[in-house]
Amino acid sequence: MIGAAVVEALESFVPRENILLQERMAGHTTFRIGGCADCFVQLENETQLKGIQRYLGLAEIPYFVLGNGSNLLVSDDGFRGVVLQIGRRMSGISVEGRRIIAKAGATMAQAAHAAWENGLTGLEFAAGIPGTVGGGVIMNAGAYGGEMAQVVTRVSVVNGQGEVMELDNETMEFGYRTSSIKNKRFAVTEVVFSLERGDKEAIGARMEELGARRREKQPLEYPSAGSTFKRPEGHFAGKLIMEAGLGGFQIGGARVSKKHCGFVVNMGDATAEDVRKVISEVQRQVKEMFHVDLEPEVIFLG
Ligand SMILES: Cc1cc2nc3c(=O)[nH]c(=O)nc-3n(C[C@H](O)[C@H](O)[C@H](O)COP(=O)(O)OP(=O)(O)OC[C@H]3O[C@@H](n4cnc5c(N)ncnc54)[C@H](O)[C@@H]3O)c2cc1C
Repeated sequence: MIGAAVVEALESFVPRENILLQERMAGHTTFRIGGCADCFVQLENETQLKGIQRYLGLAEIPYFVLGNGSNLLVSDDGFRGVVLQIGRRMSGISVEGRRIIAKAGATMAQAAHAAWENGLTGLEFAAGIPGTVGGGVIMNAGAYGGEMAQVVTRVSVVNGQGEVMELDNETMEFGYRTSSIKNKRFAVTEVVFSLERGDKEAIGARMEELGARRREKQPLEYPSAGSTFKRPEGHFAGKLIMEAGLGGFQIGGARVSKKHCGFVVNMGDATAEDVRKVISEVQRQVKEMFHVDLEPEVIFLG
């Protein structure tokens, strides 16, 4: 439970108006689902983050680092602890030669746009991924043959003791939708992308093309967290789910999209419990029919 003493301590690091109590997480996730976080702090810079992480670590208060909430299912009961949001307020981007230097709260679309503007190629794949650069690095986000691992050369983080660390591509140990700092008490503050010079028109055309493919294939008209499941080796999750006859399968307000069976979507009033039940039932039926384990890509909080 977050009491007045904790809020007072947080106030010594960030302005009071950046500290929100009992904040509904549904407003901070693309699924539009989630109960209240005890405390929600909007970060503006690395200095604030260092102080807060050191304090929360020493006080043993649970915390969660949030980007754009686009890969997240937050429980209906919310989160007992502090959510540290690294978003819009920490989102500057600069370009130095072939390098894009992005604060972690910048969106991947903004980073891809900056690359296009400067005639740099390598980030086209990221233009349609609706997360922040920080979340993208943690998840090694990828699409259409590209992934963060191919273009990230330096990641600045604040660790659980409030210390700044610089990690290179190798130390990040990028894997399929994972990295060495996923599920650790690390907060990404800045990412450097090293890109190649390219033809601005061709870069723009590729971004357009990939955007059109997304709009055609994905149920972007409903709230979701993107692909619900990781791609099982040798298969496609969406194809297996479709072949199991689960397209349109619905519990409460959560439905397996018919347009793309790999997505569970919120039809308007879905609870986290509804989504969890749909996920379990899909896993059960796919396992029974095809002997394949579907592992969620979506991260559960609370
Ligand atoms: C319509 C739709 C399409 C999508 N398409 C794709 C796709 O093509 N490819 C793909 O890979 N993903 C896709 N996703 C999923 C999602 O956008 C990515 O996983 C994205 O990288 C998550 O970024 P985020 O900022 O929203 O992170 P969040 O959802 O906020 O958090 C995800 C994880 O990252 C951590 N995190 C976030 N920011 C930081 C930070 N600054 N420091 C430390 N940890 C942090 C969180 O603690 C959590 O563990 C899609 C989602 C949607 C809704």
